[in-house]
Amino acid sequence: MQENIIPHQFLVSKKQRTQLNNHGSFLIWFTGLSGSGKSTIANALEKELYEMRISTYLLDGDNIRKGLNSDLSFSPADRKENIRRIAEVANLMVESGLVVLSAFISPYKNDREFVKLTVKKENFIQIFIDTPLKVCKSRDPKGLYIKAEKGLIKNFTGISAPYETPKNPDLKIDTTKTDVAEAVKLIIQKIKPKLEFI
Ligand code: ADP
Repeated sequence: MQENIIPHQFLVSKKQRTQLNNHGSFLIWFTGLSGSGKSTIANALEKELYEMRISTYLLDGDNIRKGLNSDLSFSPADRKENIRRIAEVANLMVESGLVVLSAFISPYKNDREFVKLTVKKENFIQIFIDTPLKVCKSRDPKGLYIKAEKGLIKNFTGISAPYETPKNPDLKIDTTKTDVAEAVKLIIQKIKPKLEFI
């Protein structure tokens, strides 16, 4: 089947879409343990970008798993498929001219590499929310760690499933030392050249 799929030549390019928006488009990929602060920081960042009149969209673990990926479990194979679909969706959104933010644990290095390849490395910024497991457990905003420790949730990252620490993220934020407002400032600084590249 694949050989009969021939991409259409679009009359409007990504460059034209970004020119219309007056800012670059790329993907900001947050990775880190559950409760590390990915969603909180991504939300605060999106609000700040909105104030700056930047067109954005936030893809979040919980909203994607309730919809597009509601058929997937947390087994290694399904986690891989989860990220593969998100990468493809994010790529379409980047092509559409948006600044895309995503908050997924994405514990496997290979899966994160796949995202980078899919959206192309120049469109990819990886932010590692490096909050110690001990702190994530004590925050436990969704009460998941307590359930995982009782064995009520299988394959829970940090408890019964691994998290592969990113070696060379574009930015690493330790939320025990950096508050949300400061984290947003650091990220805006980091993405400025990409926002300006149109
Ligand atoms: P994740 O999306 O990584 O699972 P959440 O953002 O849902 O994590 O939860 C992180 C929790 O930690 C929230 O309750 C948030 O208020 C709290 N928190 C405390 N300090 C920080 C900080 N500096 N940055 C982000 N979150 C923080």
